[in-house]
Amino acid sequence: MSTRLNKSMMEFQDHLRHSKRIVALVGAGLSASSGLPTFRGSQGLWKNFNMIDLATPDAFYIDPGLVWQFYSYRRHAALKAHPNSGHLALARLSQVPSVEFVTITQNVDGLSIRAGTPRHKLHEIHGSLFDLRCTSFGCNYVDHDNFVDPLTPALGGTEEEFDRSGRKRSMHGDEDTDGASVSPEFTPVKQLDDSELPRCPACGDLLRPGVVWFGESLSLQLLNRIDGFIEQGPIDLMLVVGTSGTVYPANGYVDRVRYKGGKVAIFNTDIEDSVVDGQQEGVWGFRGDAAETLPQALDPLISQVCP
Ligand SMILES: [Zn+2]
Repeated sequence: MSTRLNKSMMEFQDHLRHSKRIVALVGAGLSASSGLPTFRGSQGLWKNFNMIDLATPDAFYIDPGLVWQFYSYRRHAALKAHPNSGHLALARLSQVPSVEFVTITQNVDGLSIRAGTPRHKLHEIHGSLFDLRCTSFGCNYVDHDNFVDPLTPALGGTEEEFDRSGRKRSMHGDEDTDGASVSPEFTPVKQLDDSELPRCPACGDLLRPGVVWFGESLSLQLLNRIDGFIEQGPIDLMLVVGTSGTVYPANGYVDRVRYKGGKVAIFNTDIEDSVVDGQQEGVWGFRGDAAETLPQALDPLISQVCP
């Protein structure tokens, strides 16, 4: 570790020890360390469909069977991944008695919950792959943290892929570790009848994945709960983990915390040099894999509670 990083880390940990109210803002970079694809760039395709075309209310209206197969695949991939040391460090921070702490995550993969973060201290602003919501207007049925896989018999087996050599790339095995570099072929998308898809136990209508799709608004109720926590008293420290923190509403939270005198610590592979070099007042930057840097940085507090 360089002298400068050492100095930043000591300053950060000194501030951490005196922090009473902390917020973590978590993005895709943290789950990338658990091996989950972020569905951006070259990985933005699923069975030759652009995932952006599948993650919309229109796509679900036109072909719910297709969209459910995509989400069944994503649920399966997320369940195969394990929470990493970064998720576990944040879960432990939420158990430190002297600190009021909440996690705001942009990730939908359920890894923070599976790491042991209490549900009431976790705000999943883009929803969760493991929440199911009824599509019927007026039916408020929601099923949280449903980890059943597959959700219906018809959705089973749709996650298998084949690489160019014809070798089976099953999500059940680890035989392929660099799958992102090949152009896979897939088991064809099945034509599924609505009756073969997850149904609402309350009203019988179709259930949908409880994620926020393109063109949909974030939950106002959830944003209000986060606002409530931030307004209740000054936030001493904001941890920005695996995200640049520059996209709405994340950027707004960072600005508000700083405006009220709170400090910010960024844990990401990609951070501006001026931040890493300590040239921005009140902001620390720890460049690298957050699954490694975060547990080390939080050690003074999380070592107080059992893993
Ligand atoms: Zn319903």
